Order: sequence, then C-alpha cells, then structure tokens
Amino acid sequence: MNDLIIQLKKVNYRYNDLRVLEDIDLEVEKKEFLGIIGPNGSGKTTLLKIILGLIPPENGEVFLFQKPISKFKDWQKIGYVPQKATQFDKNFPITVEEVVSLGCLHTVDHKKIENALSIVEMGKFRKRRISDLSGGQQQRVFIAKALCSSPELLVLDEPTVGIDSNSQEKFYDILSHLNKDHSITILLVSHDIDVVVNEVGKLVCINKKLVYEGQPKEFIKKDYLEKLYGKGRKFIIHGH
Ligand code: ADP
Repeated sequence: MNDLIIQLKKVNYRYNDLRVLEDIDLEVEKKEFLGIIGPNGSGKTTLLKIILGLIPPENGEVFLFQKPISKFKDWQKIGYVPQKATQFDKNFPITVEEVVSLGCLHTVDHKKIENALSIVEMGKFRKRRISDLSGGQQQRVFIAKALCSSPELLVLDEPTVGIDSNSQEKFYDILSHLNKDHSITILLVSHDIDVVVNEVGKLVCINKKLVYEGQPKEFIKKDYLEKLYGKGRKFIIHGH
C-alpha cells in the first residue's frame, strides 16, 4: 500500500439538488497511467476538482500521497494541465520560455525550464511567442509548464481537444515517455475513448458512479460502451 498516489473512499458530490458523483472508490498507484472516461456531464471534471483539492467532497475521504487531503501540503508534487490550457488571449505577448517559467513555484529556475522544454521537444522554440505556435505545440508548452515543479503526478483534463491527429500522436508519445522513463504517474481525463484505450495502462469509466475499472481492452470487449454511449457505437482498436 506504500505507493498509493491517490485514494478516494466513498466520495460523493452534488451541486445543490444535482447528484454528480456517487460512492466513488478509486486508487491510483505510483507509475500508473490511468485514463478516466465518461460521457459529457458524467462528473469527470468534478472528480478532478476534488482530487486537486479545488472543491471538498460532500462526504467520503480523499488521500493524496497517503495523506488526508486536508493535511496535504506538497502540491508541487502534482502538475496540472487544465482543460482549455491553450485557449488564451492570442494577443498576449508572452514567449514559450515565459509560459513555462510560470510553472516554477518560487524562483525561476532556468535549468528546470530548459529541461522541461527539452522533454517536450520544444527547446528550439523557447523565444517564440506562444501565440505563433500550432495547437499541438502550445499543448506541449503547457505540459512543460506543469513539469517545471518536477511533479510525481501529472493530471491532464481533456488535453487534446482541438489538436490534429499527428500532434495527438506526438502528445501521447511524450506522456508515455514521462510515464515510463521518468516514472511520472499520469491521470488523464478524456472523452476521446478511441484514443485513450490505446494509450493508458488502466481505464476508469464514470457515469456518476464508477462503472468500470480495469484493463482498457477488457472494457472494449464487454458491453460497457453500449451501456454508456448507446447502441451502434463503432470502435476501432489500433493494436499497438
Ligand atoms: P464532465 O466533466 O464529465 O463533463 P462535470 O463534472 O463537468 O462532467 O459535470 C457533471 C454535472 O454537474 C453536469 O450535469 C454539469 O452540468 C453539472 N455541473 C458542473 N459544474 C456545475 C456547477 N458549478 N454548478 C452546477 N452544476 C454543475
């Protein structure tokens, strides 16, 4: 049990009368690459907000790095790439390097910035304005920003929305590299099931309740997809 990074026990949440999460139990171990999927409005973002301490659960328990979340202070261990990270004011004159430096917690550490940019292969763009990059390149810069605090856990919310398929492939290569070679635990929320099942090590599917937890390929074999998304949903496994 020593390497649990996230643990949720019977977590519930509601917005006024709307129950959004019901009795969610979830464990994420060190070095896991976990994908969370679910239909729109199924509670994925709410779940992330609870895990990141942005909202408290209605009841239930949340542990981060084996500490009750109320006592957890090591937030630098968690890198977060929010939804719509790349949707910012396009006229804002900020360079790649400056965006990444925002991820440094206390002092700007040029070595860390350099290192983070080199991991996402964006070093040579460091002096470019962020607005002059493609969506996929911007996404990589925001990963570099999250890497600046040397996180042990990287949390990404719908990271590939609006990014073309070539850039997506590159993006998942980088995540895989961070997971395998840098031992960073990854939690990825996405509605893009087709892609996610081919990339993650473990899959969790929520629809208010936890509907599935296990191997992505088992999820496809069974009829969970139909239960969640309705009949006739085509599915392709690319088989890596
Ligand atoms: P997902 O990320 O899976 O799309 P969300 O967690 O964003 O789902 O939302 C779950 C449900 O809670 C949806 O029905 C959504 O409309 C509702 N909801 C989300 N945020 C709020 C809020 N701040 N106030 C009221 N209802 C909300």
